[in-house]
Amino acid sequence: MATATGPDRGIRRPRRLGRPGLRTLLTVTMAGLALTTVVLLALVVAEVAGRRQAAEIGDSLDELAFQMSDKLDRAMFERWRDIRIIAARPVLRGDDTAAKRVALEILQQTYPDYAWIGFTDVQGRVLASTGRLLEGEDVSARPWFVGALKGPFAGDVHKALLLERLLTNPDPGTPLRFVDVSMPVMAEGGLIGVVGAHLSWSWADDIRRSLIAPGESRSGTDILVVDKDGAVLLGPRALEGQKLDLPGLTAGSRDPGPWVETWPDGDRAYLTALHRSQGFRDYPGLGWTVVVRQPVDQALAPVRDLRRLILWGAVAIAATACGFALWLAARIASPLDRLSRAARRVGETSSPDEVPLDGGYREVRDLAWSLQRMIAALTQKQEELVRANLGLEARVAERTAELTAEIAERRKVEQDREDLIQRLKRMAETDFLTGVMNRRSFFDIAGRELAAARRYVRALAVIVLDIDHFKRINDRYGHGTGDEILKGVAKRLADEMRAGGILARFGGEEFVILLQEADQDAALATAERLRTALADRSFGLIDGSCLTVTASLGLATADSETGSIDDLITRADAALYRAKDAGRNRVEAG
Ligand code: GH3
Ligand code: MG
Ligand code: MG
Repeated sequence: MATATGPDRGIRRPRRLGRPGLRTLLTVTMAGLALTTVVLLALVVAEVAGRRQAAEIGDSLDELAFQMSDKLDRAMFERWRDIRIIAARPVLRGDDTAAKRVALEILQQTYPDYAWIGFTDVQGRVLASTGRLLEGEDVSARPWFVGALKGPFAGDVHKALLLERLLTNPDPGTPLRFVDVSMPVMAEGGLIGVVGAHLSWSWADDIRRSLIAPGESRSGTDILVVDKDGAVLLGPRALEGQKLDLPGLTAGSRDPGPWVETWPDGDRAYLTALHRSQGFRDYPGLGWTVVVRQPVDQALAPVRDLRRLILWGAVAIAATACGFALWLAARIASPLDRLSRAARRVGETSSPDEVPLDGGYREVRDLAWSLQRMIAALTQKQEELVRANLGLEARVAERTAELTAEIAERRKVEQDREDLIQRLKRMAETDFLTGVMNRRSFFDIAGRELAAARRYVRALAVIVLDIDHFKRINDRYGHGTGDEILKGVAKRLADEMRAGGILARFGGEEFVILLQEADQDAALATAERLRTALADRSFGLIDGSCLTVTASLGLATADSETGSIDDLITRADAALYRAKDAGRNRVEAG
């Protein structure tokens, strides 16, 4: 929560780079989805529609082949029927050649593509013909005559021989060609002749032209008529007369359906379809096959156009979808951006009013309202915390002061106790009257010193001092003066002992001195010094006379046989008694 150091302390703002924002995420996701969907859909639609259209184009080529073949067959059937009808007419059985010629010419006039119609006798001599052409000529070797001797006959396309010179060629660039239809002419006595017709082959070309209307979608389309041996009867000049090697052309093979074939003329790929002629009713047909071809690039141009249209449409839809995705992402993200900025401002001012409640959509307005409530609750909590903190700080200060006073008091008590202990200790060790060490402490220290002297083989001596005739002082000057004298003696002895040694009051008017590292001579010198220190100077004037004090001293030094400090003192005491006995104010060694 907010502290005196600010709300941002320790919170680093996440870096913008490396993590895309909501707007980018939404845009990329929606645009990606839209693009993927549209592109996939467009590809599928383009493929399906393209295939369907390609199939339709193929079917239309198939249909064209069928139409051509059917028209050829029907036209041939009509000629077949014409010749059959005229072969049955009585006029051909009569002797009137002119009447026969008229009948033939009337027939010719009904159909302009009849190039020639003639009637022969059974030997093959032309008896009557249209325009009198070839009358009297012998045609017995011609296939149409030979064929008709056996029955109704249809003869495949061939070049004109005798008639080439006699007829005018509508297309001077190409040789005149005919298709033949001939029938036997029967009378009661049997065969009397043959009636035959040459049909100008340009008729087939007219049908072809009528099927391929100029300016239509069939640009570049060729219709070919192929005979039963695969030779081109009708088609592009370069191919006419050539033998084609295409699947489905050989007799008995199946119709391969529209397919793409590379043709020999120009080595170009063509969408190719064919239909085999079946004849019509009793006309058996000549085994022709109609082949239709169209350059693949031209045939399938609508497919390409359709696919392009679909793909461009998809691009347009995708672009619109991307634009929509951008707009939608901005619409979703910008209220959140606004909220985020407002929340940052709240961090600076701590005011919930910085969060705008209007704008955006319902969720964002809910979020803004929740943020306001949260900020208000947090601010209230913060104020409560600050108040609680202040109270707490006051209590802590109060308690700290109490504790400090308590600690000081306790320290003082401890110090007093320590002082008391020290004083008691000092009192326990010290003689209360003179202030020097008392007897008990002396024994403690002297015992330790004796043990150390023995361990390290060092000298040790003890002097026992007793004031001479002290009872008399008490008796003469009073007990109080006696006490003062005792204190004075102790002080004088202590002054003399400052250089070393331990002094103690042994009891009454007796003192004892322990000398470390002092042999008998050194101890004697010290004892003598102490004796004179007392005897040579007075302790002051009392009742007009100088008060002097003497003392007798006995000393003993420790040796290997000294068992305890008592032994040593006993020996020193014995020496003291000798000094008393010898007249006092002297030193004796034991
Ligand atoms: P001597 O030369 O033989 O030692 O004779 P003396 O009188 O000193 O010996 P004695 O033992 O008979 O007497 C010791 C006296 O010391 C007896 C007592 O009244 C006195 N005395 C002992 N302790 C104190 C004391 O603390 N204060 C005073 N004023 N007198 C004391
Ligand atoms: Mg005494
Ligand atoms: Mg005495």
